[in-house]
Amino acid sequence: MSKTIRLPGTSRLPLAFILVSLVALAAMPVLSSRAIVGYRREVRDVIEPARLQVTQLHLALALGAAALRDLLNTNDTTFAKRYEEAVRQERAAYDRLAPLAARVGGKSAQRFAELRLAETRWHDRISQLLNERPRRPETIQQELADEDLYEQTLVAAANLDAELARSTADMRAQIDRAERLVLILTMGLVTLAVAAGAVAAALSRRLRSYAAAAEHDRRELEAVLKSHARMTRGITHDLKNPLGVILGHAELLEDGVRGELTPQQRESVSRIRSAAESLLELINTLLELARAESGQIHIRTERVELAPLIQDVVQNHRAKAENAGLLLGVQLDPSLGRIQTDDARVAQVLGNLLSNAIKYTPAGRICVRAEPRASGGPDAGPWIAISVEDTGRGIQPDHIEQIFQEFSRLETETKEGTGLGLAIARRIARLLGGDISAQSEPGKGSTFTLWLPRKV
Ligand code: ADP
Repeated sequence: MSKTIRLPGTSRLPLAFILVSLVALAAMPVLSSRAIVGYRREVRDVIEPARLQVTQLHLALALGAAALRDLLNTNDTTFAKRYEEAVRQERAAYDRLAPLAARVGGKSAQRFAELRLAETRWHDRISQLLNERPRRPETIQQELADEDLYEQTLVAAANLDAELARSTADMRAQIDRAERLVLILTMGLVTLAVAAGAVAAALSRRLRSYAAAAEHDRRELEAVLKSHARMTRGITHDLKNPLGVILGHAELLEDGVRGELTPQQRESVSRIRSAAESLLELINTLLELARAESGQIHIRTERVELAPLIQDVVQNHRAKAENAGLLLGVQLDPSLGRIQTDDARVAQVLGNLLSNAIKYTPAGRICVRAEPRASGGPDAGPWIAISVEDTGRGIQPDHIEQIFQEFSRLETETKEGTGLGLAIARRIARLLGGDISAQSEPGKGSTFTLWLPRKV
């Protein structure tokens, strides 16, 4: 007899947790590195190039201012060309800077707009002053110095650079934070996974020890049952022999072999005989239970024709039913046919259901029906259902399962009995591959059904 030990739900929890932790451990670097790579790319592809353009802008502004100063001092056209070249470089730097500043957005984009405004004002003013010549260069220089437009442009460029530097610092801080978070989470998950692993190991150790204890208990129980069954068999056999002697002598007395009996003596001997017969029946039932408990009820299957078998059992109970004033009917489906089963055991179970129906039906009728059924049995069919239906006093619905237990009789019971019949009958039905089910309505009657697998 082997038993599967099922893992309780809680022991699967650490296992699930280890799996989740491992998945998280694998997923985290991917997710976090995506964020970190994003920040790094922003710094590398946008902010740093923008700062480079600002530096070039500074350079072009300085070159432009120097060329302008020389142009005003010397009136040499070479310086005019240099000035124009510087302005061209400046514009090129602006063109490269504009999309980068827009991508950085926020305050950087604002600072860029301010820079463009200052630069435009500075160059417009220079064009205006140069076109207004001939004025003295010192006057122009003085005016330019007074208006402060060049310094304003330089300040705007420096502000943009400072803003870009702040963005770089922000990005680096974000990267640091993301890296720290990854480190903390990884350490946390590793710790939890290790803890869950330890819990799983402890649980599995405990489960193994439970399984070993259960196996030990099962073996002990099996041994106790076997010895109990041996003892019951021994005692019952020892009881059966003297009972046989009592019955034999009672019969001798009743038959007048030891001389004629007075009517009172005959009455007493008849009582002795019927009491001894009841005792013998009880002993036989106990023997059957002992066999069932120690798994010694043997089933011998062969192809059995059901209709005559059922008719036979009904016939054996007819006299008893009629004596009790009950009508006993049979309805057999013509397609019952033959099935693989043990005829003696089927007869035993059906006989038990029938004698219960007779015993617990004070008046009315009993009907035995048998038919093939595709479903409705203990599990997927096909089945043969043999039902014994009575119009007796019925059973309360909450007592139905209880009556199948050993020594279980209803409290209201007045009839003689041991409370073993249905327990043994159900064990046999299950050994035959089927079961017994019961339906009942108190006051109206009961139907006990023997389900047999329809194996042909
Ligand atoms: P016993 O008949 O020896 O008491 P069983 O195991 O055969 O033992 O039945 C157990 C109990 O089930 C009975 O005591 C009786 O209360 C109830 N029972 C069985 N069959 C019927 C039936 N057909 N109608 C009403 N009650 C029943």
